[in-house]
Amino acid sequence: MRTRMAPSPTGDMHIGTLRTALYSYFLARQSNGQFIIRIEDTDRERLVLGTLESLLKTFQTLGLDHDEGPVLRSDGTLGEKGDCGPYIQSERLSLYKKYAEQLVQSGHAYCCFCTEERLTKMRADQIASKQPPKYDRLCLKLSTEEVQSKLNQGELYVIRMKIPEGESKFIDAIRGEILFQNTEVDDQVLIKSDGFPTYHLAVVVDDHLMNITHVLRGEEWISSTPKQIILHQMLNWEMPVYAHVPLILNPDKTKLSKRKGDVSVESYLKKGYLPQALINFLALLGWNPTANREIFPCSELVELFDLSKVNKSGAVMNMEKLNWMNAQYLKMMPEKEYLALCQPWLDTLPITHYALPDIDRACLLVRDRVQILSELPQLIGFLFEPSLEYDASLLLWKTQTKEDAKERLTIVREFLNKRLTDQFSLIADLDQTIRSLIVERGWQNGDTLWPLRVALSGQKQSPGPFELLVAYGKERALERIDQALAKL
Ligand code: GLU
Repeated sequence: MRTRMAPSPTGDMHIGTLRTALYSYFLARQSNGQFIIRIEDTDRERLVLGTLESLLKTFQTLGLDHDEGPVLRSDGTLGEKGDCGPYIQSERLSLYKKYAEQLVQSGHAYCCFCTEERLTKMRADQIASKQPPKYDRLCLKLSTEEVQSKLNQGELYVIRMKIPEGESKFIDAIRGEILFQNTEVDDQVLIKSDGFPTYHLAVVVDDHLMNITHVLRGEEWISSTPKQIILHQMLNWEMPVYAHVPLILNPDKTKLSKRKGDVSVESYLKKGYLPQALINFLALLGWNPTANREIFPCSELVELFDLSKVNKSGAVMNMEKLNWMNAQYLKMMPEKEYLALCQPWLDTLPITHYALPDIDRACLLVRDRVQILSELPQLIGFLFEPSLEYDASLLLWKTQTKEDAKERLTIVREFLNKRLTDQFSLIADLDQTIRSLIVERGWQNGDTLWPLRVALSGQKQSPGPFELLVAYGKERALERIDQALAKL
Protein backbone atom coordinates (compact mmCIF):
# COMPACT_ATOMS: atom_id res chain seq x y z
CA MET A 1 0.00 0.00 0.00
CA ARG A 2 1.15 3.48 -0.79
CA THR A 3 -0.74 6.14 1.10
CA ARG A 4 -0.25 9.85 1.32
CA MET A 5 -1.03 12.97 3.23
CA ALA A 6 -1.51 15.93 0.91
CA PRO A 7 -1.80 19.08 2.99
CA SER A 8 -2.11 22.57 1.62
CA PRO A 9 0.37 24.83 3.40
CA THR A 10 -2.19 27.35 4.57
CA GLY A 11 -1.53 27.44 8.32
CA ASP A 12 -1.32 25.16 11.35
CA MET A 13 -2.17 21.49 10.95
CA HIS A 14 -5.84 20.80 11.71
CA ILE A 15 -6.41 17.88 14.09
CA GLY A 16 -8.70 16.35 11.46
CA THR A 17 -5.81 16.38 8.99
CA LEU A 18 -3.64 14.62 11.53
CA ARG A 19 -6.26 11.97 12.20
CA THR A 20 -6.59 11.21 8.49
CA ALA A 21 -2.81 11.19 8.16
CA LEU A 22 -2.61 8.73 11.06
CA TYR A 23 -4.99 6.33 9.36
CA SER A 24 -2.92 6.58 6.15
CA TYR A 25 0.24 6.03 8.17
CA PHE A 26 -1.20 2.98 9.96
CA LEU A 27 -2.20 1.40 6.63
CA ALA A 28 1.23 1.94 5.11
CA ARG A 29 3.08 0.63 8.16
CA GLN A 30 0.89 -2.42 8.74
CA SER A 31 1.38 -3.50 5.11
CA ASN A 32 5.09 -2.67 4.83
CA GLY A 33 4.09 -0.03 2.33
CA GLN A 34 5.03 3.62 2.06
CA PHE A 35 3.59 6.75 3.54
CA ILE A 36 4.17 9.87 1.46
CA ILE A 37 3.87 13.57 2.20
CA ARG A 38 2.94 15.74 -0.75
CA ILE A 39 2.42 19.47 -0.55
CA GLU A 40 -0.56 20.88 -2.43
CA ASP A 41 0.33 24.53 -2.83
CA THR A 42 -1.38 25.40 -6.11
CA ASP A 43 -3.83 27.82 -4.52
CA ARG A 44 -1.31 30.63 -4.38
CA GLU A 45 -3.59 33.10 -2.59
CA ARG A 46 -3.96 30.92 0.48
CA LEU A 47 -0.30 30.13 1.07
CA VAL A 48 1.13 30.89 4.50
CA LEU A 49 4.89 31.11 4.65
CA GLY A 50 6.66 28.73 7.01
CA THR A 51 3.77 26.26 7.13
CA LEU A 52 5.69 23.50 5.42
CA GLU A 53 8.58 23.69 7.87
CA SER A 54 6.22 23.76 10.82
CA LEU A 55 4.27 20.78 9.47
CA LEU A 56 7.41 18.70 9.08
CA LYS A 57 8.55 19.69 12.55
CA THR A 58 5.20 18.70 14.01
CA PHE A 59 5.53 15.31 12.34
CA GLN A 60 8.97 14.89 13.88
CA THR A 61 7.62 15.84 17.31
CA LEU A 62 4.85 13.29 16.91
CA GLY A 63 7.41 10.63 16.04
CA LEU A 64 5.77 9.88 12.69
CA ASP A 65 8.20 9.17 9.90
CA HIS A 66 7.36 9.37 6.21
CA ASP A 67 9.06 7.42 3.45
CA GLU A 68 8.89 9.99 0.70
CA GLY A 69 8.35 13.71 0.49
CA PRO A 70 9.90 16.94 1.68
CA VAL A 71 12.21 16.69 4.68
CA LEU A 72 13.43 19.23 7.19
CA ARG A 73 17.19 18.95 7.53
CA SER A 74 18.84 19.48 10.90
CA ASP A 75 20.08 22.91 9.76
CA GLY A 76 16.47 23.97 9.16
CA THR A 77 16.61 23.88 5.35
CA LEU A 78 14.26 21.83 3.20
CA GLY A 79 15.25 18.74 1.26
CA GLU A 80 13.41 15.83 -0.24
CA LYS A 81 13.47 12.02 -0.30
CA GLY A 82 11.88 9.45 -2.61
CA ASP A 83 11.84 8.58 -6.31
CA CYS A 84 8.59 10.27 -7.32
CA GLY A 85 9.57 13.86 -6.64
CA PRO A 86 9.33 16.73 -6.68
CA TYR A 87 6.77 16.39 -3.89
CA ILE A 88 5.71 20.02 -3.90
CA GLN A 89 3.06 20.72 -6.52
CA SER A 90 4.32 24.19 -7.47
CA GLU A 91 7.48 22.43 -8.66
CA ARG A 92 5.52 20.08 -10.93
CA LEU A 93 3.71 22.59 -13.16
CA SER A 94 5.04 21.23 -16.45
CA LEU A 95 3.56 17.81 -15.65
CA TYR A 96 0.08 19.19 -15.10
CA LYS A 97 0.35 21.24 -18.30
CA LYS A 98 1.33 18.14 -20.23
CA TYR A 99 -1.70 16.16 -19.12
CA ALA A 100 -4.08 19.09 -19.54
CA GLU A 101 -2.91 19.49 -23.14
CA GLN A 102 -3.30 15.78 -23.68
CA LEU A 103 -6.90 16.07 -22.46
CA VAL A 104 -7.56 18.96 -24.84
CA GLN A 105 -6.07 16.94 -27.70
CA SER A 106 -8.27 13.96 -26.96
CA GLY A 107 -11.39 16.14 -26.74
CA HIS A 108 -11.86 15.63 -22.99
CA ALA A 109 -11.07 19.24 -22.15
CA TYR A 110 -11.38 22.66 -23.81
CA CYS A 111 -10.14 26.21 -23.58
CA CYS A 112 -12.51 28.71 -22.01
CA PHE A 113 -12.01 32.44 -22.51
CA CYS A 114 -14.98 33.68 -20.48
CA THR A 115 -14.21 36.66 -18.28
CA GLU A 116 -14.81 36.69 -14.54
CA GLU A 117 -17.61 39.26 -15.08
CA ARG A 118 -19.42 37.02 -17.51
CA LEU A 119 -19.13 34.03 -15.20
CA THR A 120 -20.36 35.99 -12.21
CA LYS A 121 -23.40 37.24 -14.14
CA MET A 122 -24.07 33.76 -15.52
CA ARG A 123 -24.06 32.28 -12.02
CA ALA A 124 -26.28 35.03 -10.62
CA ASP A 125 -28.80 34.45 -13.44
CA GLN A 126 -28.76 30.70 -12.86
CA ILE A 127 -29.35 31.14 -9.15
CA ALA A 128 -32.16 33.62 -9.83
CA SER A 129 -33.86 31.07 -12.10
CA LYS A 130 -33.30 28.34 -9.47
CA GLN A 131 -30.81 26.38 -11.55
CA PRO A 132 -27.62 24.95 -10.05
CA PRO A 133 -24.70 27.27 -10.95
CA LYS A 134 -22.71 25.52 -13.68
CA TYR A 135 -20.60 26.65 -16.61
CA ASP A 136 -22.92 27.04 -19.64
CA ARG A 137 -20.35 25.76 -22.13
CA LEU A 138 -20.35 28.90 -24.24
CA CYS A 139 -16.70 28.37 -25.23
CA LEU A 140 -17.35 24.80 -26.24
CA LYS A 141 -19.14 26.27 -29.25
CA LEU A 142 -15.97 27.98 -30.50
CA SER A 143 -14.45 26.50 -33.64
CA THR A 144 -10.84 25.33 -33.68
CA GLU A 145 -9.93 28.43 -35.72
CA GLU A 146 -11.66 30.77 -33.29
CA VAL A 147 -9.84 29.17 -30.36
CA GLN A 148 -6.53 29.42 -32.20
CA SER A 149 -7.05 33.06 -33.06
CA LYS A 150 -7.90 33.93 -29.44
CA LEU A 151 -4.80 32.08 -28.27
CA ASN A 152 -2.70 33.93 -30.85
CA GLN A 153 -4.04 37.23 -29.57
CA GLY A 154 -2.86 36.27 -26.08
CA GLU A 155 -6.35 36.21 -24.54
CA LEU A 156 -6.46 34.84 -21.00
CA TYR A 157 -8.00 31.39 -20.78
CA VAL A 158 -8.53 28.42 -18.54
CA ILE A 159 -8.74 24.75 -19.47
CA ARG A 160 -11.97 23.04 -18.45
CA MET A 161 -12.80 19.37 -18.43
CA LYS A 162 -15.77 18.33 -20.54
CA ILE A 163 -17.87 16.23 -18.19
CA PRO A 164 -19.42 13.40 -20.20
CA GLU A 165 -23.00 12.22 -19.92
CA GLY A 166 -23.88 9.35 -17.65
CA GLU A 167 -23.12 8.61 -14.04
CA SER A 168 -20.01 8.12 -11.94
CA LYS A 169 -19.68 5.76 -9.05
CA PHE A 170 -17.02 4.51 -6.75
CA ILE A 171 -16.77 2.23 -3.76
CA ASP A 172 -15.69 4.21 -0.76
CA ALA A 173 -13.77 1.95 1.63
CA ILE A 174 -15.63 3.44 4.60
CA ARG A 175 -19.02 4.30 3.11
CA GLY A 176 -19.61 1.75 0.38
CA GLU A 177 -20.92 2.66 -3.07
CA ILE A 178 -21.37 6.35 -3.86
CA LEU A 179 -23.14 7.30 -7.08
CA PHE A 180 -23.28 10.69 -8.82
CA GLN A 181 -25.22 11.82 -11.87
CA ASN A 182 -22.75 13.57 -14.17
CA THR A 183 -25.32 16.27 -14.88
CA GLU A 184 -24.66 17.46 -11.32
CA VAL A 185 -20.96 17.90 -12.06
CA ASP A 186 -19.61 21.22 -13.37
CA ASP A 187 -17.08 21.47 -16.21
CA GLN A 188 -14.26 21.85 -13.73
CA VAL A 189 -11.36 24.19 -14.46
CA LEU A 190 -8.17 22.12 -14.66
CA ILE A 191 -5.63 24.84 -15.46
CA LYS A 192 -6.19 28.38 -14.24
CA SER A 193 -5.33 31.50 -16.23
CA ASP A 194 -2.12 31.89 -14.17
CA GLY A 195 -0.95 28.52 -15.50
CA PHE A 196 -1.36 26.76 -12.16
CA PRO A 197 -3.46 23.62 -12.05
CA THR A 198 -6.50 23.39 -9.83
CA TYR A 199 -6.52 20.89 -7.00
CA HIS A 200 -8.58 18.42 -9.08
CA LEU A 201 -6.09 18.00 -11.88
CA ALA A 202 -3.01 18.10 -9.66
CA VAL A 203 -4.35 15.56 -7.18
CA VAL A 204 -5.21 13.05 -9.91
CA VAL A 205 -1.91 13.46 -11.76
CA ASP A 206 0.12 13.17 -8.58
CA ASP A 207 -1.80 10.28 -7.02
CA HIS A 208 -1.23 8.44 -10.30
CA LEU A 209 2.43 9.32 -10.84
CA MET A 210 3.25 8.69 -7.19
CA ASN A 211 1.54 5.27 -7.39
CA ILE A 212 -0.81 6.02 -4.53
CA THR A 213 -3.00 2.99 -3.90
CA HIS A 214 -5.23 4.35 -1.12
CA VAL A 215 -6.48 7.92 -0.91
CA LEU A 216 -7.74 8.75 2.57
CA ARG A 217 -9.12 12.22 3.13
CA GLY A 218 -11.83 14.18 4.91
CA GLU A 219 -15.46 13.73 3.89
CA GLU A 220 -15.59 17.30 2.58
CA TRP A 221 -13.87 15.92 -0.52
CA ILE A 222 -16.61 13.42 -1.43
CA SER A 223 -18.26 15.87 -3.82
CA SER A 224 -14.93 16.33 -5.65
CA THR A 225 -14.46 12.63 -6.20
CA PRO A 226 -16.68 12.25 -9.32
CA LYS A 227 -14.51 14.82 -11.15
CA GLN A 228 -11.43 12.88 -10.18
CA ILE A 229 -12.93 9.56 -11.20
CA ILE A 230 -13.88 10.99 -14.58
CA LEU A 231 -10.36 12.35 -14.99
CA HIS A 232 -8.91 8.91 -14.28
CA GLN A 233 -11.19 7.45 -16.94
CA MET A 234 -10.26 10.15 -19.45
CA LEU A 235 -6.58 9.48 -18.91
CA ASN A 236 -7.05 5.73 -18.86
CA TRP A 237 -5.55 5.40 -15.43
CA GLU A 238 -6.34 2.89 -12.74
CA MET A 239 -8.21 4.38 -9.84
CA PRO A 240 -6.90 4.30 -6.26
CA VAL A 241 -9.13 3.14 -3.42
CA TYR A 242 -10.90 6.15 -1.93
CA ALA A 243 -11.88 6.42 1.73
CA HIS A 244 -13.54 9.53 3.12
CA VAL A 245 -13.07 9.92 6.83
CA PRO A 246 -15.97 11.52 8.77
CA LEU A 247 -15.77 14.97 10.29
CA ILE A 248 -14.69 15.76 13.82
CA LEU A 249 -17.52 17.59 15.59
CA ASN A 250 -17.95 20.03 18.45
CA PRO A 251 -19.99 18.66 21.39
CA ASP A 252 -23.02 20.47 19.90
CA LYS A 253 -22.54 18.33 16.75
CA THR A 254 -21.49 21.26 14.57
CA LYS A 255 -18.33 20.93 12.50
CA LEU A 256 -15.27 21.43 14.69
CA SER A 257 -14.21 25.00 14.18
CA LYS A 258 -11.64 27.44 15.45
CA ARG A 259 -14.33 29.54 17.05
CA LYS A 260 -15.41 26.76 19.42
CA GLY A 261 -12.02 25.52 20.54
CA ASP A 262 -8.57 24.61 19.49
CA VAL A 263 -8.23 22.83 16.19
CA SER A 264 -4.51 23.05 15.56
CA VAL A 265 -2.17 20.21 16.39
CA GLU A 266 0.59 22.67 17.18
CA SER A 267 -1.48 24.41 19.81
CA TYR A 268 -2.26 21.12 21.57
CA LEU A 269 1.44 20.28 21.65
CA LYS A 270 2.26 23.76 22.90
CA LYS A 271 -0.19 23.32 25.77
CA GLY A 272 1.66 20.25 26.94
CA TYR A 273 -0.40 17.44 25.47
CA LEU A 274 1.87 14.48 24.87
CA PRO A 275 2.39 13.29 21.30
CA GLN A 276 1.50 9.69 22.27
CA ALA A 277 -1.72 10.80 23.95
CA LEU A 278 -2.73 12.99 21.04
CA ILE A 279 -2.09 10.18 18.55
CA ASN A 280 -3.97 7.66 20.68
CA PHE A 281 -6.89 10.04 21.18
CA LEU A 282 -7.24 11.11 17.54
CA ALA A 283 -6.89 7.56 16.25
CA LEU A 284 -9.83 6.55 18.43
CA LEU A 285 -12.05 9.38 17.22
CA GLY A 286 -14.37 7.41 15.00
CA TRP A 287 -12.65 4.05 15.24
CA ASN A 288 -12.19 1.70 18.15
CA PRO A 289 -10.36 -1.62 17.97
CA THR A 290 -12.01 -3.04 21.10
CA ALA A 291 -14.93 -1.95 23.20
CA ASN A 292 -13.23 -2.09 26.56
CA ARG A 293 -9.83 -0.52 26.10
CA GLU A 294 -8.71 3.03 25.38
CA ILE A 295 -4.95 3.16 25.77
CA PHE A 296 -3.01 1.92 22.75
CA PRO A 297 0.60 2.73 21.92
CA CYS A 298 1.16 3.74 18.32
CA SER A 299 2.71 0.39 17.42
CA GLU A 300 -0.49 -1.39 18.44
CA LEU A 301 -2.66 1.08 16.55
CA VAL A 302 -0.62 0.25 13.47
CA GLU A 303 -1.28 -3.45 13.96
CA LEU A 304 -4.97 -3.18 14.76
CA PHE A 305 -6.13 -0.47 12.38
CA ASP A 306 -8.96 -1.53 10.09
CA LEU A 307 -10.22 0.97 7.52
CA SER A 308 -13.53 -0.83 7.08
CA LYS A 309 -14.28 -0.34 10.78
CA VAL A 310 -14.01 3.45 10.70
CA ASN A 311 -17.41 4.98 11.58
CA LYS A 312 -19.41 6.66 8.87
CA SER A 313 -20.81 9.36 11.10
CA GLY A 314 -18.98 12.30 12.64
CA ALA A 315 -16.99 11.88 15.84
CA VAL A 316 -17.44 14.30 18.72
CA MET A 317 -14.25 15.81 20.09
CA ASN A 318 -14.42 15.03 23.78
CA MET A 319 -11.87 17.19 25.62
CA GLU A 320 -12.42 15.41 28.93
CA LYS A 321 -11.39 12.16 27.33
CA LEU A 322 -8.32 13.74 25.81
CA ASN A 323 -7.34 15.19 29.19
CA TRP A 324 -7.95 11.86 30.88
CA MET A 325 -5.87 10.07 28.28
CA ASN A 326 -3.06 12.56 28.60
CA ALA A 327 -3.10 12.04 32.38
CA GLN A 328 -2.86 8.26 31.85
CA TYR A 329 0.25 8.69 29.72
CA LEU A 330 1.80 10.99 32.34
CA LYS A 331 1.17 8.39 35.02
CA MET A 332 2.42 5.46 32.97
CA MET A 333 5.78 6.80 31.91
CA PRO A 334 8.97 6.26 33.92
CA GLU A 335 9.48 8.82 36.70
CA LYS A 336 12.62 10.20 35.09
CA GLU A 337 10.84 10.86 31.82
CA TYR A 338 7.97 12.57 33.60
CA LEU A 339 10.35 14.84 35.50
CA ALA A 340 12.22 15.76 32.33
CA LEU A 341 8.93 16.69 30.64
CA CYS A 342 7.98 18.87 33.60
CA GLN A 343 11.12 21.00 33.37
CA PRO A 344 10.11 23.40 30.59
CA TRP A 345 6.89 24.25 32.41
CA LEU A 346 8.51 25.42 35.63
CA ASP A 347 9.90 28.76 34.47
CA THR A 348 7.02 30.72 35.89
CA LEU A 349 7.35 29.41 39.44
CA PRO A 350 8.45 31.93 42.06
CA ILE A 351 11.45 29.78 42.92
CA THR A 352 13.86 32.61 43.50
CA HIS A 353 12.47 33.16 46.94
CA TYR A 354 13.05 29.68 48.27
CA ALA A 355 15.46 27.04 47.23
CA LEU A 356 13.15 24.50 48.86
CA PRO A 357 11.02 22.54 48.30
CA ASP A 358 12.74 20.29 45.91
CA ILE A 359 11.19 20.84 42.47
CA ASP A 360 11.26 17.21 41.42
CA ARG A 361 9.51 16.23 44.60
CA ALA A 362 6.90 18.90 43.98
CA CYS A 363 6.29 17.59 40.46
CA LEU A 364 5.92 14.04 41.74
CA LEU A 365 3.54 15.23 44.41
CA VAL A 366 0.94 16.24 41.81
CA ARG A 367 1.65 13.53 39.27
CA ASP A 368 -1.72 11.91 40.00
CA ARG A 369 -3.56 15.16 39.48
CA VAL A 370 -1.89 16.79 36.53
CA GLN A 371 -3.74 16.21 33.27
CA ILE A 372 -1.88 18.60 31.00
CA LEU A 373 1.64 19.76 31.71
CA SER A 374 0.65 23.41 31.34
CA GLU A 375 -1.34 23.01 34.58
CA LEU A 376 1.80 22.20 36.50
CA PRO A 377 2.81 25.71 37.61
CA GLN A 378 -0.69 26.32 38.88
CA LEU A 379 -0.82 22.98 40.72
CA ILE A 380 2.49 23.30 42.53
CA GLY A 381 2.97 27.08 42.51
CA PHE A 382 1.65 27.45 46.07
CA LEU A 383 4.53 25.37 47.38
CA PHE A 384 6.93 28.11 46.37
CA GLU A 385 4.99 31.18 47.47
CA PRO A 386 6.46 33.00 50.49
CA SER A 387 2.99 33.19 52.04
CA LEU A 388 -0.42 31.90 51.01
CA GLU A 389 -3.52 33.98 50.45
CA TYR A 390 -6.69 32.36 51.83
CA ASP A 391 -9.45 33.12 54.24
CA ALA A 392 -9.07 31.85 57.83
CA SER A 393 -12.49 30.18 57.58
CA LEU A 394 -11.06 27.73 55.04
CA LEU A 395 -9.00 26.27 57.88
CA LEU A 396 -12.12 25.12 59.71
CA TRP A 397 -13.50 21.64 59.20
CA LYS A 398 -17.30 21.69 58.87
CA THR A 399 -18.64 23.26 62.14
CA GLN A 400 -15.24 23.53 63.78
CA THR A 401 -14.51 26.70 65.76
CA LYS A 402 -11.40 28.80 65.30
CA GLU A 403 -10.28 27.99 68.84
CA ASP A 404 -10.56 24.30 68.20
CA ALA A 405 -8.60 24.45 64.93
CA LYS A 406 -6.00 26.64 66.58
CA GLU A 407 -5.54 24.23 69.44
CA ARG A 408 -5.06 21.24 67.12
CA LEU A 409 -2.66 23.06 64.88
CA THR A 410 -0.64 24.31 67.84
CA ILE A 411 -0.26 20.80 69.23
CA VAL A 412 0.56 19.30 65.82
CA ARG A 413 3.14 22.05 65.33
CA GLU A 414 4.84 21.23 68.65
CA PHE A 415 4.76 17.59 67.79
CA LEU A 416 6.37 18.19 64.40
CA ASN A 417 8.89 20.58 65.87
CA LYS A 418 10.19 17.80 68.11
CA ARG A 419 11.00 15.66 65.08
CA LEU A 420 14.40 15.92 63.52
CA THR A 421 14.76 17.51 60.11
CA ASP A 422 15.50 14.17 58.48
CA GLN A 423 12.32 12.68 59.92
CA PHE A 424 10.37 14.55 57.25
CA SER A 425 11.22 12.34 54.36
CA LEU A 426 8.77 9.45 54.68
CA ILE A 427 5.10 10.00 53.95
CA ALA A 428 4.02 6.72 55.57
CA ASP A 429 5.95 7.51 58.72
CA LEU A 430 4.38 10.95 59.14
CA ASP A 431 0.99 9.51 58.31
CA GLN A 432 1.30 6.88 61.01
CA THR A 433 2.65 9.11 63.77
CA ILE A 434 0.22 11.95 63.22
CA ARG A 435 -2.68 9.52 63.13
CA SER A 436 -1.50 8.00 66.44
CA LEU A 437 -1.41 11.49 67.90
CA ILE A 438 -5.02 11.98 66.77
CA VAL A 439 -6.08 8.70 68.42
CA GLU A 440 -4.12 9.45 71.58
CA ARG A 441 -5.81 12.82 71.92
CA GLY A 442 -9.27 11.48 71.11
CA TRP A 443 -9.59 13.84 68.10
CA GLN A 444 -11.19 13.16 64.75
CA ASN A 445 -9.22 12.86 61.50
CA GLY A 446 -11.24 15.58 59.76
CA ASP A 447 -10.87 18.31 62.33
CA THR A 448 -7.12 17.77 62.57
CA LEU A 449 -6.02 16.82 59.09
CA TRP A 450 -8.21 19.38 57.28
CA PRO A 451 -6.78 22.43 59.10
CA LEU A 452 -3.29 20.97 58.71
CA ARG A 453 -3.71 20.40 54.98
CA VAL A 454 -5.19 23.87 54.40
CA ALA A 455 -2.40 25.43 56.47
CA LEU A 456 0.10 23.78 54.14
CA SER A 457 -1.68 24.45 50.84
CA GLY A 458 -4.07 27.36 51.32
CA GLN A 459 -6.40 25.46 48.98
CA LYS A 460 -9.70 23.68 49.16
CA GLN A 461 -8.25 20.82 47.13
CA SER A 462 -4.62 19.80 47.18
CA PRO A 463 -2.38 16.82 47.79
CA GLY A 464 -2.74 15.33 51.29
CA PRO A 465 -1.12 16.76 54.42
CA PHE A 466 1.55 14.06 54.77
CA GLU A 467 2.71 14.43 51.18
CA LEU A 468 2.85 18.18 51.70
CA LEU A 469 4.90 17.87 54.87
CA VAL A 470 7.45 15.81 52.98
CA ALA A 471 7.45 18.21 50.03
CA TYR A 472 8.12 21.20 52.28
CA GLY A 473 10.51 19.69 54.77
CA LYS A 474 10.49 20.64 58.44
CA GLU A 475 11.42 24.30 58.37
CA ARG A 476 8.99 25.45 55.70
CA ALA A 477 6.18 23.23 56.98
CA LEU A 478 6.41 24.87 60.40
CA GLU A 479 6.50 28.28 58.78
CA ARG A 480 3.24 27.51 56.94
CA ILE A 481 1.57 26.31 60.15
CA ASP A 482 2.71 29.50 61.92
CA GLN A 483 1.13 31.58 59.14
CA ALA A 484 -2.13 29.66 59.57
CA LEU A 485 -2.06 30.14 63.35
CA ALA A 486 -1.57 33.86 62.85
CA LYS A 487 -4.69 33.92 60.65
CA LEU A 488 -6.68 32.14 63.34
N1 GLU B 1 -4.93 19.41 -0.23
C1 GLU B 1 -6.10 18.85 0.34
C2 GLU B 1 -6.24 19.34 1.79
O1 GLU B 1 -5.45 20.14 2.21
C3 GLU B 1 -6.01 17.35 0.33
C4 GLU B 1 -7.16 16.71 -0.31
C5 GLU B 1 -6.84 15.26 -0.65
O2 GLU B 1 -6.28 14.59 0.23
O3 GLU B 1 -7.15 14.83 -1.74
O4 GLU B 1 -7.11 18.94 2.49
